[in-house]
Amino acid sequence: METGSPDSDSILPLDHRECERARSRRDRRYDGRFFTGVRTTHIYCRPVCPVRPAQARNVTFYPTAAAAEASGFRPCLRCRPETAPFSPAWQGSRATVHRAVRLIRAGALDNANVEALAERLGIGSRHLDRLFGRHIGASPLQVARTTRIQKAKRLLDETKLPMADVAARAGFASLRRFNAVFAEVYRRTPTQIRRIRFKPV
Ligand SMILES: [Zn+2]
Repeated sequence: METGSPDSDSILPLDHRECERARSRRDRRYDGRFFTGVRTTHIYCRPVCPVRPAQARNVTFYPTAAAAEASGFRPCLRCRPETAPFSPAWQGSRATVHRAVRLIRAGALDNANVEALAERLGIGSRHLDRLFGRHIGASPLQVARTTRIQKAKRLLDETKLPMADVAARAGFASLRRFNAVFAEVYRRTPTQIRRIRFKPV
């Protein structure tokens, strides 16, 4: 796992100062366009997070939730990054990346590997990795992982489905895997996560 490298900003389609201004004002127009990693707490947030903003010197900005997670940040339980609007920031990026993300969201990497995904897109897997690095700041596998976590988190918050169903619907290979990933990402079990209730931001 990488820790917030200074290079992370280079893939951000937005200016660092613009992000900082949006974050300090909780500007809703920027919701989904970037995420803020707080290095002191290892938590990442939406720009609209109601929690008192961290000091500017402790934050790093990322273009996607997957990029923040790939750098070792955990999703904020208060602003719920999994509920951020689909990012318009990289909607203008390459059509191939866009298509790949759509396929991943539909579960393309739940039962098949990156090579198979790349083949469906008509490119090599290394090229796909490079495109993801440039436009998303995370690999296809990291995006798939974040997508599963986000789906599961929304199901935990919005349904009363049994844990095994949440795991299966979110695309996890097993309940054990689901529990392990949640423990790693949230430092809590899915049951503990389900008990936490905040008003939506
Ligand atoms: Zn937050």
